[in-house]
Amino acid sequence: MSAQILEGNVYAAQIKAEVKAKVQIAKDTYKIIPGLTVIIVGENPASKVYVNNKHKACEELGISSEVVSLPETTTKEELLSEIDKLNKNTAVHGILVQLPLPQQISDYEAEILEAIDPKKDVDGFHPVNVGRLGIGKDSLVPCTPHGCIKMLEFAGISIEGKKAVIIGRSNIVGKPMFHLLLAKNATVTVCHSRTKDLADITREADILVAAIGKPRFVTSEMVKPGAVVIDVGINRIAEKKLVGDVDFDAVKEVAGAITPVPGGVGKLTIAMLLYNTLKAIELQYNINLG
Ligand code: NAD
Repeated sequence: MSAQILEGNVYAAQIKAEVKAKVQIAKDTYKIIPGLTVIIVGENPASKVYVNNKHKACEELGISSEVVSLPETTTKEELLSEIDKLNKNTAVHGILVQLPLPQQISDYEAEILEAIDPKKDVDGFHPVNVGRLGIGKDSLVPCTPHGCIKMLEFAGISIEGKKAVIIGRSNIVGKPMFHLLLAKNATVTVCHSRTKDLADITREADILVAAIGKPRFVTSEMVKPGAVVIDVGINRIAEKKLVGDVDFDAVKEVAGAITPVPGGVGKLTIAMLLYNTLKAIELQYNINLG
């Protein structure tokens, strides 16, 4: 039997509805207009598309959105000074530095991300937020893995007591996913490029998360019948063709539920960025927006 398809649009709309309600409370009850500023350095065309999509999504939900466009030649000091201004600006609740950075400053990426006020760090990449997530404290959580958890919750898929296997251990997806699933009481295994007998491990998974960056890497033989398969991968295999890390057509015949690519997890990321902007306000003002 074919798997339930977990459509990203459906869950992104639910997350956005939650955010919209919070925006209203922030405005009506606290007289706060939520503000997100995205800094983009240089002319990377893909980054420009992402930033534009983020800007449009903010406008849709009543979040004030600024884009600070800096030239390709921006120095580390100039970028740090821009971040410092935004940290001090009380009308800005969320700050995001669009990655990747141009070559001359890419080596300083960690230092640049650490310069963002942790309470305004809507990407959830600051070491303070990474650490707080690890010890189960309230924090700003990376958008993509957090979106996956929200989607499971909205879809009514229970996590507690399940065996979850993550393929990929990046700081952006795999590691935060580990902490989030553990916090929901799953028994979690993290696999990576040096893992031996990978398929033996993935076949044990009730929930399998693929965050590898290799087209159609997860085959049907690697999936337990009925498992929930979350495909985080986005791989361009031709000019207009995106595929995930999972061999969708084959795996959907084995899995119980599966996210498509495109149209799956990717749809949740921007919704979670808006969610984090409102979460940032809650942290900065020590309030609860419902
Ligand atoms: P990454 O390159 O930082 O990490 C890839 C991970 O896969 C590594 O930990 C590596 O150990 C593991 N890996 C590589 N080859 C492997 C193998 N043969 N067997 C087992 N593990 C292997 O990538 P990332 O930033 O975590 O991104 C992963 C994928 O998710 C990419 O396709 C990326 O484009 C996509 N992504 C999507 C979103 C979204 O919004 N949907 C957000 C972030 C990343």
